[in-house]
Amino acid sequence: MYQTQKDLETIHQVCARTLKAAGVTPDDMVAVTFGYHMFVAGLFYQGQFEYYGSKVIPLGPGESDRAVRIINDYSVGVLVSNPTFAMKLAAKGIPSVHTLFVGGEPFTSVAGYPDRVKAAFGHDITIIDSYSMAACMPIARSCRHETGLHIVDDYVYAELVDPNSGEPVPLGEKGELVLTHLCKEAAPLLRYRTGDLTVLQEAPCACGRTLTMPKSVMGRTDEMVKVKGVKFWPSQVGTILCSDPKLAGRKYQVTVESDQGVDSLTLTIEGSDPENGVVKRISDLLKTETLVKFNQIEFQPDLAGGPLLVNKRN
Ligand SMILES: [Zn+2]
Repeated sequence: MYQTQKDLETIHQVCARTLKAAGVTPDDMVAVTFGYHMFVAGLFYQGQFEYYGSKVIPLGPGESDRAVRIINDYSVGVLVSNPTFAMKLAAKGIPSVHTLFVGGEPFTSVAGYPDRVKAAFGHDITIIDSYSMAACMPIARSCRHETGLHIVDDYVYAELVDPNSGEPVPLGEKGELVLTHLCKEAAPLLRYRTGDLTVLQEAPCACGRTLTMPKSVMGRTDEMVKVKGVKFWPSQVGTILCSDPKLAGRKYQVTVESDQGVDSLTLTIEGSDPENGVVKRISDLLKTETLVKFNQIEFQPDLAGGPLLVNKRN
């Protein structure tokens, strides 16, 4: 990642607009729990909030007790963290936090996850999700109206293409995100294929932005298989399992079998069936999110850490 002085200025200006749309003010005290070394997120957030005029505490990751003490001592209003760590801190009591910037993990794409994080805080908070990559920071960020991740289209031009043909995909359909920098001086991207799958929508938001990724990133192009005539990305299954606290983080395996051209899809999940209608709910979610109906969902106590996808077709 290379930036000229002017690039840094532009990035900070673009980010400042997103911070304003997030409802942050320069008077807010901010704490950042991302790392500050080779992982660029810590410095990225530190720089943009300081440019905006906020005071920023570089907490870094880990040491949750110390982090909670500092957040409370300084009445931190804005916390920047991955959602898992934010929930851990929230469980110990951080009542001054009114806005949480999340990153580093799938978040908006995981059904029900934002509500779980909000519930962990026990008071009303705004959650701002962001999407960036080292080659392009920022790309998209949600605002205080929480209507999805708005593309920062004053900085980057976003297109969606079919991962196979490279042809443009209509708004509202899933495709690979392609990025072009509009004003970058050093190492600008020109129709850069990110390998990330998403959906773009034109939907005017009260904050003024329009082009939005309603569900952030849903998978990668490099693992796509065609099942039952539909493009299917096995890693989407992991995101869907994360929507249920009883299944989140479990190992799983997707098996595709084919008999005389008819595909059959089985999902095997590690551990035991949590019951209480969980399988039915997951099955319905798989159908609506992947557009593929699973023929069977089964549980196995010790699922070998094998491949994500076992393709038995020939
Ligand atoms: Zn908005």
